[in-house]
Amino acid sequence: MKAGYQNDQWTSSSKGYSIRDGYEWLRTKQPKKHWVQLVWNSWNYPNLALISWLVMNQGLNVKAKLFQFGCCPDNRCCICDQDPETQEHLFFDCLYSRQVPRLVEQWCGFKIIVGSYASNGRSAGARLKKQTHYLIWSSCYYHIWSQRNSSRVHLILLMLENMVANIREDAMRRIRSKFGGSAGSEERTWF
Ligand SMILES: [Zn+2]
Repeated sequence: MKAGYQNDQWTSSSKGYSIRDGYEWLRTKQPKKHWVQLVWNSWNYPNLALISWLVMNQGLNVKAKLFQFGCCPDNRCCICDQDPETQEHLFFDCLYSRQVPRLVEQWCGFKIIVGSYASNGRSAGARLKKQTHYLIWSSCYYHIWSQRNSSRVHLILLMLENMVANIREDAMRRIRSKFGGSAGSEERTWF
């Protein structure tokens, strides 16, 4: 490793040593991901954040990897039992999963766009919509993954309408708990 601190000062500046600077020097700095705020924000439940973080890091190619290592007799999707189960297929191409955004949009009134959100200004109402979008976006991943596991372990797959109702329930419960007494009239009207 290249020396960062010599002769009682940092080689990149004339500053003396501090623990903070030492930590920053030791850790590997990665460019900030565009989806960080969607995943790690105070509105997201930890379980939703964890699953969406795994998706963003290509961490849920579970069956494809098990099959590749010879630990699984087939690589077919646990939900549709037709196509190979890659993460891409499971969340975006599967006959079941790809209908989720359409059904969710019918009740929430805006498009669920993977990995991004186009904010409409800085008003209080816009902030609520943005947080709600993040919440629903993560919730879709979480519930699709739950259905995949339920189908794999218990051979039970919820009807799409019921699954989307669960996403809605999660979102409404969280919005109510975060709302408190701080919501302005614009936010209340939208909600
Ligand atoms: Zn499938």
